[in-house]
Amino acid sequence: MRKLAFYAWLYVESELRKTKNRILNLIDPPVVVLAYHRVSVPQIDFHSLVVSPENFRAQMEFLKRNFHLVRFEEDWAAAKKPAVAVTFDDGYADNVLALAIVEEVGVPVTFFISTGNIDSSNEFWWDELERLVLGEASYPPHFQLNDAKYGKTWSTETYRERRRMYWDLHQSAKKITVVRRTGWLRQIREWAGLNEVTDGANRSLTHDELMILAKSQWVTIGAHTISHPTLSSLTEEEQRHEVVSSKRQLEKLTGREITVFSYPFGAKRDYDLTTSRICREAGFNKAAAAFPGEAHRWGDPYQIPRHAIPNWDVDTFAAKLKGLWIR
Ligand SMILES: [Zn+2]
Repeated sequence: MRKLAFYAWLYVESELRKTKNRILNLIDPPVVVLAYHRVSVPQIDFHSLVVSPENFRAQMEFLKRNFHLVRFEEDWAAAKKPAVAVTFDDGYADNVLALAIVEEVGVPVTFFISTGNIDSSNEFWWDELERLVLGEASYPPHFQLNDAKYGKTWSTETYRERRRMYWDLHQSAKKITVVRRTGWLRQIREWAGLNEVTDGANRSLTHDELMILAKSQWVTIGAHTISHPTLSSLTEEEQRHEVVSSKRQLEKLTGREITVFSYPFGAKRDYDLTTSRICREAGFNKAAAAFPGEAHRWGDPYQIPRHAIPNWDVDTFAAKLKGLWIR
């Protein structure tokens, strides 16, 4: 009975939200901001970060045919609406392939870049974790993580068990320091019998590749911290360092002023009011979050909602986008 009441409430809540959004969208046609990460051939992709080149091209062509396209950094007050803005997070090397497609189709894009891995073969920690835990190795039956706070033993015989362990580790690894996480990855590497060297499929942009993006008339470069931490778990000083240094570093690398930012992970719990203030003080005009929703003129420019787009074919993409206007 309690379960039924719960589902009934979920239904009512979602209907109320749809009605509210319909009204808001009538009062002020919104800007819908789409968030991508990678254009590549999907592999394990636990977090649905990869969109295939075919689907990405078809999605961009659909946008070009059907919507007003705006740049993330523009003043949207003057834009014809409803409008769509396209953004990418993280700065994977395969963003160069995304660039080739958006240039051909003619879609403006903002790439938010984490600077810590530029010109290195290091993977982002979640990619290494995914490769180590969910790959093809012959795994021992257990893994014991040695850590004062998060130490735990997992059964790791089946893929299902390893997926559980991956998820647990991912949740807590978001909240810890780079040094501590590096220690975890070392332990996991030893357990999996795998090493640090990869084929480079998950690497970040090089400086040269970043310049190819930055020089395109279709591209805006934005900042996304240095080491991609959960900013809300850091001290104010640490947050400021991640935010301000990534801006300075990108300005030095590209020779352009960097005026927009996106929060790593981007859910409301992943940044806080201090983060928004630091972004404003650092000279950013807007900051993108990662919770779904549409941007209205009364919204907070330092918490712009975005819809994450997975590897949908164009029909699914079109249907979902249509749904966004009236949600
Ligand atoms: Zn990110």
